[in-house]
Amino acid sequence: MKLLVLSAADVQRLLPMAECIEVMAQALGDLARGRVEQPLRMILKPQQALGLMAFMPSYRAGNPGAFGVKVVGVFHGNVSRGKDSHQGAVLLFDGQSGEPLAVMNASAVTAIRTAAVSGLATKLLANPDASDLAILGAGVQARSHLLAVACVRKLSRVRVASRSPEGARRFAAEMAKESPVPIESMASAEQAVRGADLIVTATSAAEPILRREWIAAGAHLNVVGASLPTSREVDGATIGAAAVFVDRRESAENEAGDYLLAVKEGAAPAGCIRAELGEVVIGARPGRADAKEITLFKSLGLAIEDLAAAQHVYARAQAGASGTRVEF
Ligand code: NDP
Repeated sequence: MKLLVLSAADVQRLLPMAECIEVMAQALGDLARGRVEQPLRMILKPQQALGLMAFMPSYRAGNPGAFGVKVVGVFHGNVSRGKDSHQGAVLLFDGQSGEPLAVMNASAVTAIRTAAVSGLATKLLANPDASDLAILGAGVQARSHLLAVACVRKLSRVRVASRSPEGARRFAAEMAKESPVPIESMASAEQAVRGADLIVTATSAAEPILRREWIAAGAHLNVVGASLPTSREVDGATIGAAAVFVDRRESAENEAGDYLLAVKEGAAPAGCIRAELGEVVIGARPGRADAKEITLFKSLGLAIEDLAAAQHVYARAQAGASGTRVEF
C-alpha cells in the first residue's frame, strides 16, 4: 500500500484560497444535508503540558466516501520560537476499505481552511458593498483571513491591531504584497474597528477584545479565535446585538465561550443562533435580514472542514503527481 505524504508547501500549492472557499461551501452544505458524521472534538489538556492536543474525526458520505481525522496540537509558546502554534497531521482514509491514503501537514490545512470558511461566511452574510476591513490579531489566522476576505469582497481599507503594536506593524509590512490596499497598523482594537464593515477577530485572547459600541451598523464579523467554553473575544452585548451564525450548533452549544458566556450573563437569549453556515449555503435557513443588521459568524473549526480539504488536496496531488509516496 502506498501512502501519500504532503508537506506544508504541497498543501499551500494544492489548496489555493479561492478554491478552498468553494470546497468549504460543498463540505458545509453536505453537513447541512446530513451527509457528514462527526462527534465533538476530544481535547487532551494535561495540567503539566505546555499545550493541548485536539482529536477531530469525521466521515463524509459519497462515492466512495471518506474518513478523516485531524490530530492538532495548540502550543501558544511556539510563536516566540518561530513556529506555528498549531502543529499536527490530517489523515485521510478510504471510505470503503479504511486504508490510509494520505497524511498531510495540519498547520497549513488549518490556516487555509479556517480562513476559507470565514471567507464563505463573508461572501454569504456581509453587505455586498462592504469594503473596510479590520483585523484583530496579527498571527497565522490573521494573515490567511486577509487573503480570504479579499477573495470575496473588493477591499478599500485594511486596518490591523494586535496585543503588541509591534505585531501589528510586522503584519502590515509582511502582508503588504498580499493586500490590495496599504495596511494600516493601529494602536488599539477600537481604532482598528470603528467604522469598519468587515471585522475579523483572530487572536488567542481569552477575554473580550471587541466591544459592541465600536461596531458599525451593518458590519459583518468573523469571530475565529476562542474555541473553549471559558474563553471569548467579543463581549456579551455584541452577541446580543448580532444575528449569530455558526459552523455547527452542537459545537457552538458546547465549545463557544463567545456564545455561552453571553447567554450565561443574560446579554443574549439561549438559542439565539440563526443558522449554521451550511444551512445558509443550501438555502434551508435565511442569512442577513437587511443592510443595517450586524451579522456575526462564530467559527470553531470542524473536522469535516479538514476532511474536505484533505480530499481536495489528495485528489489534486494524485492528478498532478505531487507529494511523496511511501510504502506503508
Ligand atoms: P497565533 O499565535 O499565530 O496568533 C495569535 C495572535 O493573537 C497574535 O497576533 C497575538 O498578538 C494575538 N493576541 C493574543 N492575545 C491577544 C490579546 N489579548 N489581544 C489582542 N491580540 C492578542 O495564532 P493563530 O493565528 O494560529 O490563531 C489565532 C486564534 O485562532 C487562536 O485562538 C486559535 O486557537 C484560533 N483558531 C481557530 C480556528 C477555528 O477553526 N476557528 C482554527 C485555528 C486557530 P501579538 O501579535 O501581540 O503576539
